[in-house]
Amino acid sequence: MKRQYLLLSLIFMVSFSACKKEDKTIDYDTVDNFYKKVSTIEVEVAYEPGAEPYTTLTNGDNIWQFTQTNVEALFDGRPVSVSVTVPPNLASMQQIPDQNRDNYSAQDVMNLATRFREGVNTQTSGNLWVVFLDGYFKDGDSLRTNVLGVNITGTSVTAVFKPVINGVGALTSQRKYIEQSTVVHELGHALGLVNSGLPETSNHTDTDHGGHCTNQDCVMYWLNEGAVNLSNFVSQNGMSQFTVVFGPECLQDTRSFFP
Ligand SMILES: [Zn+2]
Ligand SMILES: [Zn+2]
Repeated sequence: MKRQYLLLSLIFMVSFSACKKEDKTIDYDTVDNFYKKVSTIEVEVAYEPGAEPYTTLTNGDNIWQFTQTNVEALFDGRPVSVSVTVPPNLASMQQIPDQNRDNYSAQDVMNLATRFREGVNTQTSGNLWVVFLDGYFKDGDSLRTNVLGVNITGTSVTAVFKPVINGVGALTSQRKYIEQSTVVHELGHALGLVNSGLPETSNHTDTDHGGHCTNQDCVMYWLNEGAVNLSNFVSQNGMSQFTVVFGPECLQDTRSFFP
């Protein structure tokens, strides 16, 4: 099933880049670009009504610090120091109109990005767009009611499927970290992990599940895209908003990548 989806998004990506060539502009929305001269990365967040992301922990702390911690970890120890901006509350995110549908294909997600994404990628600044949707992922003809999120292959566009988040985790506090871990996993794809733009520096590519890590303690482990496993992952790791959930193999890949 996963392979089917990758193939689908690969086909889509090819046609997408074909369009881009025609307007003769340089495409800065590439994995390589993030690891060249980019010194600021903005995580831009949008949401449908009813699909609002969690923003605070019970003690009032900002849970989006978790995404910030983990994106920063990917760029830690690299030649260009990167300043990462993550919106701390709903007021600094964009509410998009209710789309009145219960499923979204990869193409539907890209159409939303075209309509609502505000930031762009340049030579020195990166933008990662994350949209929270009140519906499920539609992979070809099948409705994927256990897929928490997707990164559209070859792009910096990610969708999180809020009804799946709402159905997992025994406690709301766990659900918040499941949601954040979903964002981090998909941003890991957007930023080229594992062997999807970033070459591996050790043998940790899961060959049966492309773009994923064989380390079960890493957020890029393939089952961590699904509700049940990610729920266990979160409850087994004592999480705080400062916990780095990428394993050492994935972190070493970013530290060794000089495109
Ligand atoms: Zn994945
Ligand atoms: Zn890993």
